[in-house]
Amino acid sequence: MFQSARLKLTAWYLLIIMGMSIIFSIAFYSVTTREVQRLTDRMEYEVKDPYNPFFVPPPITQQRIEDLEESRQRVLFSLIILNGIIFFVSGGGGYFLAGITLRPIQRMVSEQHRFVTDASHELRTPLTATRTAVEVALRDKSLTLTNAKKTLESNLEDIASIQLLSDDLLRLSQFENTQTSIVSGKVAIQDVIVSAVKKVGVLAKAKEITINQKITKQFVKGDTQSLEELFVIFLDNAIKYSSKESSILITTKRTDGHLLIAIEDTGIGIEKADIGHIFDRFYRAEKSRTKNNAEGYGLGLSIAKKIIEEHKGKVKVESEIGKGTTFTILLPAIS
Ligand code: ADP
Repeated sequence: MFQSARLKLTAWYLLIIMGMSIIFSIAFYSVTTREVQRLTDRMEYEVKDPYNPFFVPPPITQQRIEDLEESRQRVLFSLIILNGIIFFVSGGGGYFLAGITLRPIQRMVSEQHRFVTDASHELRTPLTATRTAVEVALRDKSLTLTNAKKTLESNLEDIASIQLLSDDLLRLSQFENTQTSIVSGKVAIQDVIVSAVKKVGVLAKAKEITINQKITKQFVKGDTQSLEELFVIFLDNAIKYSSKESSILITTKRTDGHLLIAIEDTGIGIEKADIGHIFDRFYRAEKSRTKNNAEGYGLGLSIAKKIIEEHKGKVKVESEIGKGTTFTILLPAIS
């Protein structure tokens, strides 16, 4: 598809350049021809004998007229050669430029394609589980009400999981397709963190995890809702990947022009080899998938990364297996 688009674009480049070149050449050639004609006419007139129709111009003038005619032909020849060179150079250059022009579009399309493939793949697992459970229950002639309820409960869990995934996918695609910046207002980071902590309160309570805060009143330019979502993602992970009765610490620090917000947990930690991938879509470290049994699709940190990028910020991860993880978010601060 992209090869034919590249050829078509090259053809358009070529058509425009050659069109201009040919028009210019025709104009140049007609001016030259007219000029040669004018000079020839003048020479013939100067040496013409009006009383002698058989008069032949002297050889020197004849030679000059022939030289002029030869120059006209040489101009024509040079223009043809020049147009040939322009054709090949602009063809090659156009093909190269068409490749450069189409490269970001090609990258975007293959990214979208990968997104759809990954999303369908992830959706298929809970959908297949739901379908199989329903089919088995329907085939079971001696299905009791208790077993039917159990099947429905398991279906409900799968549906909740699909809903979670589709919500995350929708959010991620919103960030990927956004054309206008959502970052506009002055946001008090303390308020955002407090409300994010409140949102994950139930999860923390269930694991008896304490969330400590050492935060000062600082402001950033941003979107309250997205920033709240950002801290919910980091706090949710910190709770998910920590053991019971542990603690999480949130600190803020102001450096020149920036605000550093650190979320520190004492959980399972991340392998060095995984750290470079955790912000990739659908990436889950082996440990989190198997041992920890924590729910998730590996989309949280991709969404977090988009939010941070949207706010012109940065994120740093420090982790040690068995000791814990610290995510440090750097956002441009305003006073
Ligand atoms: P998930 O839904 O799997 O939590 P995320 O995108 O939020 O997806 O995180 C990607 C992966 O990064 C997780 O599967 C986990 O392996 C790792 N991870 C993220 N946060 C932490 C943390 N605080 N402690 C340990 N591992 C983490």
